[in-house]
Amino acid sequence: MCYAIGPYTAASGLIMVAALLLGMVLLERRSLWIAVVGWFASMFAIHFASEAGALPFLSLFEASLEQSDLAQVAAERAAAAALISIPLAVVMDHLISVWRQDERTLYEAAQFDSLTGAYTRGFAVAIMQRTVLKARGDAKPFGVLMLDLDHFKRINDAHGHARGDLVLKQTTHAVQSTLRAGDIVGRFGGEEFVILLPGADLKQAMGAAERCRAAVEKMKIPDAPYLSVTASVGVAAFPDHGEDLDGLLKASDQAMYTAKANGRNRIESARG
Ligand code: GH3
Ligand code: MG
Ligand code: MG
Repeated sequence: MCYAIGPYTAASGLIMVAALLLGMVLLERRSLWIAVVGWFASMFAIHFASEAGALPFLSLFEASLEQSDLAQVAAERAAAAALISIPLAVVMDHLISVWRQDERTLYEAAQFDSLTGAYTRGFAVAIMQRTVLKARGDAKPFGVLMLDLDHFKRINDAHGHARGDLVLKQTTHAVQSTLRAGDIVGRFGGEEFVILLPGADLKQAMGAAERCRAAVEKMKIPDAPYLSVTASVGVAAFPDHGEDLDGLLKASDQAMYTAKANGRNRIESARG
């Protein structure tokens, strides 16, 4: 770095400081770093290219210099390096932003179900696995609800798939609105949702299940005032109904099927 700047002069130093200040005003911090690194790289490249006689046609880059020309050439080189590195930094910053945005879009697609905004099955399972490990370590309870809409096929058949989709979206919002901030709602299948309630014991999980059931029953579907939507909910709790995720999911699923068998639009606790 010293070698690149060393032979140069106060004029080139002033240009560098001025360009750095300009960069601080115009560029974000990330771009500024790219610009500074790019600038030094450009200075080195220009210096060595001119020394090697690789830039014979530009007086700016001439290799053999009279001492009196040095100040002017150094200043011109500093300016040339700034002209190269600042636009380069802006372009690279833009490319990095686009690349990060692509990554974020992919990450969000893996995390959220595009129709309902609930977590995807894969992401919900990953969170639940982490919760199981944490709950074992802290010896804290948590609840798992399996919620399935009743006779959803009939809703699709009678009102069309688009309205069925709307019902799925509203169900997600209705359920989310009854839960606490740390609770997790995942779409497990077509019209089946899994709900994770960290810190909730069986009694609290039963309470949350009833609130979810009631919230679904109360939903008003736009342009279909007489459409009745209900859900059956199975409830399992850690550690009452299992100590691993598979066991808890199975227990809540079986409880949900018991709720179906017992007439739907109801909640049931897992046996155990
Ligand atoms: P049950 O009360 O026993 O749960 O009956 P059901 O009709 O709800 O259950 P079934 O599993 O027979 O039907 C689920 C239906 O959900 C069938 C499928 O067409 C529909 N479905 C799945 N995914 C979507 C979706 O993304 N949008 C819509 N509109 N329908 C979906
Ligand atoms: Mg169903
Ligand atoms: Mg189902």
